[in-house]
Amino acid sequence: MPRVTLEKDKTLNNIVDAPCGECKRSTKHKVLASIDLSGREETEETLIYGWDNEYQIIQCQGCETIMFRQSHMNSEDMEHVAGPTGWEADYVTFEDYFPNPEKSRTGLSDDHLLPEKLQRIGDFQPSCPNKTV
Ligand SMILES: [Zn+2]
Repeated sequence: MPRVTLEKDKTLNNIVDAPCGECKRSTKHKVLASIDLSGREETEETLIYGWDNEYQIIQCQGCETIMFRQSHMNSEDMEHVAGPTGWEADYVTFEDYFPNPEKSRTGLSDDHLLPEKLQRIGDFQPSCPNKTV
């Protein structure tokens, strides 16, 4: 059975870079609350499968807008990144923000006129942008 651990406010007051929908660019955000969940399935010597999920309420340090950030990593999704000594394997981080900062607020001001289902489609964004690279 996987072992799941939960840690509250582990990243409290950390500063993270995140896209801000109001500032329309990536800005510094302060973590106001966080939950870290991780699951490990392992034997004495070997990790079979592991995952880490982060849930954070973050606030833009420019315009003070508050949003929700969620990230996911696991031991099977790896990517190769250029490091100081060549290509290095690293875990892929999947990130999601709510509300979606890339959605134009002014462009969709008639949102309420659409049936609910269409609004959901309009909100849909690929949840794993890193994977397509
Ligand atoms: Zn902002």
